[in-house]
Parts: sequence; structure tokens; C-alpha cells
Amino acid sequence: MSLEIQENVPLAPHTTLGVGGAARFFARVTSEKDVVSALEFAVAKGVAVFVLGGGSNLLVSDDGFPGLVIHIALRGISAQGETITAAAGEDWDSFVEHMVQQDLGGVECLSGIPGFVGGTPVQNVGAYGQEVADTIISVRCLDRHTRGFVELSSEECKFTYRTSIFNSEMRDRYIVLGVTFSLEKGGEPKVFYKDLVEHFDGRHPTLIEVREAVLKIRRSKSMVMDPTDPNSRSAGSFFKNPIVERTRLGELEDKFGRVPFFEYGDRVKIPAAWLIEHAGFCKGYKLGRAGTSSNHSLALINRNGATAKDLIALKDKIQAGVREKYGIELIPEPVFLGF
Ligand SMILES: Cc1cc2nc3c(=O)[nH]c(=O)nc-3n(C[C@H](O)[C@H](O)[C@H](O)COP(=O)(O)OP(=O)(O)OC[C@H]3O[C@@H](n4cnc5c(N)ncnc54)[C@H](O)[C@@H]3O)c2cc1C
Repeated sequence: MSLEIQENVPLAPHTTLGVGGAARFFARVTSEKDVVSALEFAVAKGVAVFVLGGGSNLLVSDDGFPGLVIHIALRGISAQGETITAAAGEDWDSFVEHMVQQDLGGVECLSGIPGFVGGTPVQNVGAYGQEVADTIISVRCLDRHTRGFVELSSEECKFTYRTSIFNSEMRDRYIVLGVTFSLEKGGEPKVFYKDLVEHFDGRHPTLIEVREAVLKIRRSKSMVMDPTDPNSRSAGSFFKNPIVERTRLGELEDKFGRVPFFEYGDRVKIPAAWLIEHAGFCKGYKLGRAGTSSNHSLALINRNGATAKDLIALKDKIQAGVREKYGIELIPEPVFLGF
């Protein structure tokens, strides 16, 4: 059957923020052959392409996108012992749940992150002391330049904090089709993160218990998608935690007293949420129909009927406030489409 291309498809319902206009063309692809056909369509029409997963790290402009949105719907999970391959369109959290139930460790702390498997290597998703880079062996992709299929090793993906080649030097070059993970049967759960350490208070939990604890903590911060929780109408953390030199941290501490930080190699990471709150944007801060979550100052939310313009105005205001007080530029984490 030939690939169906829809026209003028609203994108807001395909995103967790629920804002933005329509895609000129939209194709839901369920096979690798479909992906190639969709690319051929875009070339023939002379339009740009955007690859959409779960839309959980995305802010779409109110004017929409004048090109073709390829919505990844490839499904399937296969296992060879502890080596697991999941298609890019699999729901990430269902995949994690399935792995934990099989007593396979390595992704349990990444429970509750919305979106699809194919989106996880793009920004090297991480939470509670784990990142997908810790377990990814390789990523199967379609190379948009050569139209050939490639299997990129973890090294070739160049994973660092919220970064890979997919969202930096090779942005727009590869379409992720599947991801292969190396997990550990009966693996020791990772309990390093402060919130989890406190939760278990010295006990050795099972993988299932870690997953449940992560979900509970995330729910308390509105960091799992929940249609009944308006604070979860977000794109997760809207800004990355800034990484600064130690000398810079010293200067900030001389001026402002204690500044929290995490070690990051030779440098340190300062929690963006702390900077935002101390620059005067409390949890539950409101700017028109946009705001920050009442449970997490780092999540910008669509309070009720916000537009992309409302969210950009709030983003700009927060960035300006943090810049003015701390001289630090907050870098947004979500992808901006159609701006
Ligand atoms: C409530 C909430 C909590 C969150 N918590 C976390 C967290 O703890 N840690 C974290 O790291 N992130 C978090 N996020 C952000 C987000 O869930 C992740 O970044 C997720 O992996 C994005 O996947 P997606 O499928 O939704 O990607 P999308 O939002 O659809 O796309 C994001 C980017 O990835 C690209 N992309 C997506 N799929 C593919 C593909 N198959 N091939 C090529 N490019 C692709 C898109 O083109 C776009 O550039 C959170 C978001 C929300 C809403």
C-alpha cells in the first residue's frame, strides 16, 4: 500500500505542550520503506522535513511548519539475551516497564520520561543518575544524504549531557529507526541520586521498586504526563542545567553566597531550577496563559489555551532575569519548530 500523505494537520495534539499550528504535509510511517517514500515525497515537493516522535521535547510555532512532518510509528522489540533492540516508534516508558518486568537493569531510573524510543538518543535522555548513553550499543538510522541505512555505534553518536550528533553536528542528517541496548539481567539498580537515596534510606531495592519510586517522585513534580494534572502540560525541563568553570562558580559564590552545583568533569553544573527561582520566578509563576509548573520551576507550562508566542514571551523573560542577575545564559532544551 502506498504511503498516505495528509495535508494541513494540526500539530498541537501531537505535542505534550499542546500548542502550535499545522504541518503543511504529514505522513505517519510504519515501516522503513515508508520512511524512504516520505523523504522522496519531500524532495519531489521541494519542502523541508521534520521527524516527529512523541512530541514531548517540542515547541511548535503558531504558524506551524510549511514542510513534511514524518511521524515515526515503527514498532517492535526483539531480544538476544541481554541485547535488546526497540523500534523508534515504541513508547519509551512502556519499553522501560517491559525491561524492568523482565528483570533487565540499566534503564529503570529513566521511568516516566514521555516520548518514543527514537527520541531518546537525540538528546541522550537522562534522569536520576542514568542516561541512555550508559546502555545504548548502537542506533540504526536512515542517512538522509545517501538514503542508505547505517548502524551508528555509541561512540559515533558522541553522547554527552543532553547532546549527541543527532542534535548537534549532524542535526537533520539521520532518521533514527531503532535503538539497541545492552541491559543486565538481575542488574543492581542504580540508586545514586539524592531523592532516590533518601527514598530507600539504605535498603537495596529491586528494579521494580526503583521504577515505582522514580514514578512517585516524578509524579510529585508533575514530570509524568497526566491528563488530570495541568502542571504536566509541558515539555519537561525547559532549560538545560548550565555548565560553568569552577572559577566562575567561585565568583558567583563570592557575590551570592552558597550556590548549589553538581560535579561535571573539570567543570560544574548549576541547577537551572535554582537560578530561575533565585532570579525571581517562583514555582507557579504566571505570564498570561503560560507559566511555570507549581511543582517544578524548570517546567514551562501551557496553563490554558496558551500560544507558542505566550511560551516564548515567558522563556525570554526568564532568560533575561537569569542573565541580568547571574550573567548566565540559559539554553532551552526543547526543539523549536517553524520559528
Ligand atoms: C513531563 C515531561 C518530563 C520529561 N522528563 C525528561 C527527563 O527526565 N529527561 C530527559 O532527558 N527528557 C525529559 N523530557 C523530554 C522528552 O520527553 C525527551 O527528550 C524525549 O526523549 C523526547 O522524545 P520524543 O519522541 O517525544 O521526541 P520529539 O519531541 O518528537 O522530538 C524531539 C527531537 O528529537 C527528534 N526526533 C524524535 N524522534 C526522532 C527519530 N526517530 N529520528 C530522528 N530524530 C528524532 C525530533 O526531530 C526533535 O528534534 C520530558 C518531557 C516531558 C513532557
